[in-house]
Amino acid sequence: MAMSSLLLVLKPFLLPPRHVPICSSTHPTSFNTCRKLNLNLHTPIQHNVLRKFTIPNNLPIENKTSQLNAKAKLVEASEAKATSEKKIPLLDVVVKRKRQVFSRRKWNFLDIEIAGGILAMHLLSLLAPFYFSWSALWVAIFLYVVTGLFGITLSYHRNLSHRSFKLSKPLEYLFAYCGVMALQCEKPNNVGDLQKQPFYRFLQSTYHAHPIALVVQLYLLGGVHFLVWGMGVRIVWIYHITWLVNLVCHVWGKQAWNTGDLSRNNWWVAILSFGEGWHNNHHAFEYSARHGLEWWQLDMTWYVVRLLQILGLATDVKLPNEAQKERLALNTSTAG
Ligand SMILES: [Zn+2]
Ligand SMILES: [Zn+2]
Repeated sequence: MAMSSLLLVLKPFLLPPRHVPICSSTHPTSFNTCRKLNLNLHTPIQHNVLRKFTIPNNLPIENKTSQLNAKAKLVEASEAKATSEKKIPLLDVVVKRKRQVFSRRKWNFLDIEIAGGILAMHLLSLLAPFYFSWSALWVAIFLYVVTGLFGITLSYHRNLSHRSFKLSKPLEYLFAYCGVMALQCEKPNNVGDLQKQPFYRFLQSTYHAHPIALVVQLYLLGGVHFLVWGMGVRIVWIYHITWLVNLVCHVWGKQAWNTGDLSRNNWWVAILSFGEGWHNNHHAFEYSARHGLEWWQLDMTWYVVRLLQILGLATDVKLPNEAQKERLALNTSTAG
């Protein structure tokens, strides 16, 4: 039952889509900037989840009035568009499709390339049972940590997108390079800034060469076994975990902070995603290098950042202070 409802919910998103920011409501950059940087291999979904409308208590009266007007407009607009909105079965979530993902869309070369890449990785991963070996599994796990944790969550997301901490340039570039090997778009926000740096321009212009080099190395080291597990299984695994953060963390889990949106803290997604599942914390304090704010909120990426900080390799590490937490806390006794 649980599985079938999960499939029902995921169904619209299982195929190559139009826009999946890791957090749609907080990341201002569009998918286009990502295309400019060419740091992606999958198309995202265009899904607008209607945000819950809450008014902070500490606003002055005139702001409250304008917020109430805004609320009235939002209600009006949502009523007007009611026909184009779909409620996700069993959940209190309404989704509005902006465009047809397949039937009425114009496929350009990049779309085909991306869809082809996703399809190829999924097909490759289907060979997993036939090419299993323990060393291939360990290669997949090793690359999952290197590209997922160091590449996506530490580098792309917390370092480059949110500038949650600073690294020396060689280290910043090394981790960003790991992100390229994850073949996906967790678009860094400071695109203009990044494009000024020759290293990122070099990555952009040679984008395909790097994963291909990895493919060749894997094949030379362990044949088809390493290829299937180190590329197919690992990449598909990372894709689906990214989608879990984008979907599950706006649907299931707890809210600790008044963020005015649907973001949630979900412990099991946090385990799989190296701490990204503490998504309500992240929406509340985007600048924070630490997403698991409580001691019991497992956040592998934060532990690495903290270690780098202790070693003097990460500086300017940003965390929310008590006043910032108090302002957004929904319930002061259980702020987790
Ligand atoms: Zn973010
Ligand atoms: Zn989000």
